[in-house]
Amino acid sequence: MRMNKVTCPRCGIYMDLLAESESVSGEKVIRYFYRCPACGYRLSASVIKVKKEDDSVVLSIAK
Ligand SMILES: [Zn+2]
Repeated sequence: MRMNKVTCPRCGIYMDLLAESESVSGEKVIRYFYRCPACGYRLSASVIKVKKEDDSVVLSIAK
């Protein structure tokens, strides 16, 4: 996953890297995205799915 500094295409200032997670039918989906603190522009960075199978946890990076 890239964690580089990203600038807003509208404002040209550095964007914040944020994460949000939600549970969808037993799967946890964590979304990382950049957000511009000035205009709120969002840029998807990465999506990680966490799936529990019996005793193990399966991680998959969707993007
Ligand atoms: Zn902006």
